[in-house]
Amino acid sequence: MLIKQVAVKNILTKSKLPDADYVINPYIGCNHHCVYCYAEFMSRFTGHTGEKWGDFMDVKEGYKILSTEKMSGQTILLGSATDPYNPLENKYEKTRNILLQLENGKADIEILTKSPLVLRDIDILSRMKHIRVGISLSTTDTVFARLTEKSAASPDKRIDAMRQLHLAKIPVYAFVSPLFPFLSDYKAIVSAVEEYADEICFENLNLRGNYKQAVLDLIAKHYPEVFANFVAVYNSKQNFNRYWQAKQEEIETFMRKRKTPYKMYFFHDKIKKA
Ligand code: SF4
Repeated sequence: MLIKQVAVKNILTKSKLPDADYVINPYIGCNHHCVYCYAEFMSRFTGHTGEKWGDFMDVKEGYKILSTEKMSGQTILLGSATDPYNPLENKYEKTRNILLQLENGKADIEILTKSPLVLRDIDILSRMKHIRVGISLSTTDTVFARLTEKSAASPDKRIDAMRQLHLAKIPVYAFVSPLFPFLSDYKAIVSAVEEYADEICFENLNLRGNYKQAVLDLIAKHYPEVFANFVAVYNSKQNFNRYWQAKQEEIETFMRKRKTPYKMYFFHDKIKKA
């Protein structure tokens, strides 16, 4: 792993994501090694063209102190192209320091992570009035998670992090993403998280980036029984729309019978990443 500290002027970036006005990525790169990582395209824009996404991490330094005094009603998302609680955060504490700068500001702050390291910052999070923490998971199956999200915390640890955030009275939501056709059991995920989640959001797997072949290779090798049907979903826009439209209706029917509010992100071009 190549780790560098890089100077940046500004850490706040305007966003086109559906639910975020601005994003903050305290690191460039992410070492959770998700096979479907949508953020991989960032390599090109950050001077990492010969390096493989996941093999490098830049730690941002030198940015100006954040002031959100004039940002009432606007949302800042921590972690659109990295996990703000990736393992480097243990040492560098960039996310923790950013939260300390944001905690008395006016903006709504949202964190998206796969890591129980977020629990380290419960002291700050519990003081914040406009905070929401999202925990991402695409499965409750430990084997599938290890194959697809090689270095991230297991689903059990993430669900336990949700439980602890909930017990600490910090608003928390489950970001059920990405749902893999024929492999992600959304009912099992909902059952596991609904006691702790204030909201459950669902997003489907897109295969538009360079990671497409790696995902297909993984499915062919480990889940040959679903491979043909899996490929068929991504063979044409028509198949994709038909499959996910039906799945969306199925999930909505299931969720309407439950108490937890939910949100669907199936046909958004701009999506959350971490
Ligand atoms: S946690 Fe998010 S940013 Fe990190 S590797 Fe996984 S998908 Fe990419």
